[in-house]
Amino acid sequence: MASFPVHLRSWQEPLRAQFPIITEHPSLAYLDSAATSQKPRAVLDAAQRYLTESNANAGRGTYPWANATTAMVERVRGRVKAFLGDPAPERSRVDFTSGTSEGLRAVALDWLPGLLADGDEIVVPFGDHQANALPWLEAREVLARRGVRITVREMPYQEGSRDYDTAELARQVTARTRFVAATHVHHVYGGDMNVHRVRQAVGPDAVICLDAAQSVGHVPIDLAALDVDFVVFSGHKALALPGTGAVWSRGLRGPAFEPGGWAGTPNTVGIASLEAALDWLEEAGVGRIEEWTVGLAARLTDGLSRLRPYEVLGCGLSLAADSRVQRRRAVVTLRHERIDAADLGFILYSHGFMVRSDGHCQASAGETRSSVRVSLHVYNTPEEIDRLLAVLGTL
Ligand code: PMP
Repeated sequence: MASFPVHLRSWQEPLRAQFPIITEHPSLAYLDSAATSQKPRAVLDAAQRYLTESNANAGRGTYPWANATTAMVERVRGRVKAFLGDPAPERSRVDFTSGTSEGLRAVALDWLPGLLADGDEIVVPFGDHQANALPWLEAREVLARRGVRITVREMPYQEGSRDYDTAELARQVTARTRFVAATHVHHVYGGDMNVHRVRQAVGPDAVICLDAAQSVGHVPIDLAALDVDFVVFSGHKALALPGTGAVWSRGLRGPAFEPGGWAGTPNTVGIASLEAALDWLEEAGVGRIEEWTVGLAARLTDGLSRLRPYEVLGCGLSLAADSRVQRRRAVVTLRHERIDAADLGFILYSHGFMVRSDGHCQASAGETRSSVRVSLHVYNTPEEIDRLLAVLGTL
């Protein structure tokens, strides 16, 4: 059995106590943080403070509330860069979105067509979230209508672990491979997709756009080490309010990212909540959140490996954080050999467990059968995992 980081208990307990929705529902266990996270008191307070002290539009008025809002929005752009470990913040930019889907779509439709010429190729991860597949196909259609034909290659995956097969990717890329869409942590298999190997496979010139929906707030992000050109994430999965997200762009390879059209009024309260969320995460320590949730996931996979009717999707092993092979993060997806995933979801809720049971919005090379996903964050506990295993063990 993987050792659980018991030394973090005294760190985690007071943090869990800061989530009102968690403490007010002691008989329920929220195990769907990959869909959206719960919010700590500090984030709720920041939203309330903003709305009661200086709510106004950004970038328009000249009175103090408007100026404060404009300054806040600009400050949070810098906050996002710092949180991501941006080594050259003066050159990069941050644009706010409603989430990862909107961010990836903006990169695909507002930016990608400006990069590509007739005969260029892009690589798309069709085994990942459809938010990271459909927009790139849409971009191909937009280009085709302009007479620019591009080739879409499928990102190759390894059997079993569902990590990217970067050796195969290296064989497939050509001088015309200009753009690669990748994912940092997989939303079904929970695997860290080893993006640094994608860079090695495609060489120094291709643009890499990273879907970081499942990694921001879960895994320390070090842009200096990652060498990617876009990082797109959902603030609402990283403890901020619903309707928040951001696109970080480096502007080194290809044209500068400039979201098209008139953006209208930004989600200012959401942006204020994102600042509080990133502050909270940094103070709690993303490295410790990682250690805690990886420990919970390992406890679950170890327990499931002793329960015969269950299959765990993706990497079945609970590997140490320093392993060089596929590492599981805060997501464990499973199937029962006889009980349908939707039924299993209902059964689990009757015991107070909120899980996700369906196809998890995976794109065309995803699973063909639905499954139950358990996804974790800082507020989850080993007791919740043990209770879940006890219930699963009776089925
Ligand atoms: N990409 C991944 C990997 C995701 O897990 C999700 C959310 N399930 C998305 C994109 C879409 O995020 P959002 O709903 O915030 O647009």
